Parts: sequence; structure tokens; C-alpha cells
Amino acid sequence: MATTKKDIRALSKEQLRDFFEKQGDKAFRGNQVYEWLWQKGAHSFDDMTNVSKETRQMLEDNFVINHIKVDTMQRSNDGTVKNAVRLHDGLIVESVLIPTATRTTACVSSQVGCSLDCRFCATARLKRMRNLNPDEIYDQVVAIDNESKLYFNRPLSNIVFMGMGEPLMNYNNVIKAIDKITSPEGLGMSPKRITVSTSGVPKMIKKMADDDVKFNLAVSLHSAIDEVRTTIMPFNENFPLEDLREALEYWYAKTKCKISYEYVVWKGINDSQKDIDALVKFCKYVPCKVNIIEYNPIDDGEFQQASNEALENYISNLEKNRIVVNVRRSRGKDIDAACGQLANKS
Ligand code: SAH
Repeated sequence: MATTKKDIRALSKEQLRDFFEKQGDKAFRGNQVYEWLWQKGAHSFDDMTNVSKETRQMLEDNFVINHIKVDTMQRSNDGTVKNAVRLHDGLIVESVLIPTATRTTACVSSQVGCSLDCRFCATARLKRMRNLNPDEIYDQVVAIDNESKLYFNRPLSNIVFMGMGEPLMNYNNVIKAIDKITSPEGLGMSPKRITVSTSGVPKMIKKMADDDVKFNLAVSLHSAIDEVRTTIMPFNENFPLEDLREALEYWYAKTKCKISYEYVVWKGINDSQKDIDALVKFCKYVPCKVNIIEYNPIDDGEFQQASNEALENYISNLEKNRIVVNVRRSRGKDIDAACGQLANKS
């Protein structure tokens, strides 16, 4: 039966306090319930043991808790864990736990499907169904934090918004989720351990700078030549590199926070000296580092990982120009959990 009850986690603490006052109860009750919802991660009103039975029933009559449910969990032989997460309306997104010797990183989704059309990404083939709510983003993080404690005996240390979706096209909800993740009333994580990755929406990058956000910014660049970038990421036609550059300069001037460029090198697409020179030039506009990501094939199509020689050429040219460059090996490939492979296949 369709429910018309309101999702209680859409309410701010103030709104919850008001609600209780209007019910003739104490505003303080709102704080208690808020703590159950966010800090203690209650899945049902019955979990709220320091709230009276009558109050719990009253909440039940008025609200729902739209908690996510981890439907299936796959573990890769390199320790990576992929969660297929069922939302209250039955839609599914994926999130990934990536362990290293010292860290556990959560890679979370921000949309069901994606609004963009990057031709090398499996998620782009799912059409965008809807944006995730702040609590649905938050819950993915909590689920991975719990798995990290269970399997690796340590809490989650980092979060990357590199799962399904374009976070800057669901900006308000992503920001609300991050507020909750960093708040002492939520998980109390430092924003410096959070990275939002975007394909590069200039207007929103400027807005983030204006909003004085404290998390890190990664940009999926993949090419610093407009014609090439437009072929692989068609939305570049509407958001050309010149606009991206201007937005990134604005970001840096306001935040003084270095940018990470994500970059995959493909055979015959962006592996020539001309591509490298363009990247080196682009990297000089704003302080940055480059993460070269291994390509995760999504089919036998036109995109193929470039040769080691091409990668070495990229690395030596960047280093010669004193640009920091890291090479990222893919994790969780055997369970389709690597970058760009999230497509609800399990
Ligand atoms: N929409 C955001 C976040 C999701 S994609 C963004 O574009 O940044 C996360 C990262 O994975 C991006 O850098 C993206 O370019 C990269 N990616 C997508 N498909 C990939 C693939 N098949 N192999 C390797 N990286 C891929």
C-alpha cells in the first residue's frame, strides 16, 4: 500500500523540536528522537527505547523511516566490498568499500543512474531515475562504516563521491548529507577526508566555492583538449574547458584547496604527445595533482587502456613540470566494483 506518511529524516532538528511542542510534548523530545535517527541509526521507532510507547506509536502514525537496505554484498578477492543498496521505492544503487593497509574508503552514489553521458562509463548507460535524498547518501556511509568495523576492525577513514551519479547535479542533497556526516550529531568525520568528484559543472564549482565548503574537489578531466573531451564526455560541448578553467581558478582563489584531476589514458584517444602537452598546460592554471586511473573495460568497444609506454610518457612529462602524479590501480574489478563499472549487474 502506498504510504503518504512523511519521511521523518527529512526534518531538521528544529523542525522535530517544533513538532513535539505542537503535540504538547517537550521540545527536548525532538533532540532525543533526532539522536536516535542520526547518531544511533535507528531503523524503526521501536528501537527508541528511552521514548515512551505512546510517543513511539504517535511517531509511527505520522512518519516513516525510509532506511536503505543492503540487498546483496559481494566481496572481491582483494578485500573490496560492493553493496547493492535497495531504496524505499525499490530502486537500487551501489556503494563500495575500498580497504588499503591503513585506510578504509567508502565510494558512494549520489543519484540513481546518471544524468551525464560519458561514453566510457557503465553508469551512464542507466538513465537517471532520481536524485538520492540526504539520508540515503548518509545511510550508504553508515553501512560501510559498519562493514569496516566488522571486517577490518577499524572505522571508515575516507569518503569519495565517485559512485553512481554526478554529485553536483544533486548538489543540495549531497551538501546536506556531508553536513550530517561531518556533524558531531552524525558521524563527526573531518571534511578533509571527503572528496567530491565531478565531471566538471562550472556553475556548481563556483557555488561550492561561494558556500565555503571544506571538502576536497576532484575533477574527471580525461582530456585537456575540447574536441577530444567532447567525443568522450559529450556534455563538454555545453561546459567547455575554458569555463571549467575559469570555475577552477575561482574555486582556488576562494578555498586555497588544491584540485585533483582524474585521468584515464586510452589507446588512440588521448595517448599522444599533443594530449600530454595540453594536460601539462591545463595543470598550470590552478595548483593540482593528477591521478591517472586504470581503465576498467565496460565492453569490448572502442575504449582500451593505453600502453605502459604511453603512461610512462604522461608521468615523466608531468614530473618534469613538477606536477604531482599518482597512478591508481583498480580495486574490486572481479565484482564489477571499480570506477565506472557500477551498473546494478549483481
Ligand atoms: N560523476 C562523477 C563521479 C562518478 S565517476 C565524476 O564524473 O567525477 C567516478 C570516476 O570514475 C570519474 O573520474 C570517472 O571519470 C571514472 N570512470 C568512469 N568510468 C570509468 C571506467 N570505465 N574506468 C575507469 N574510470 C572510470
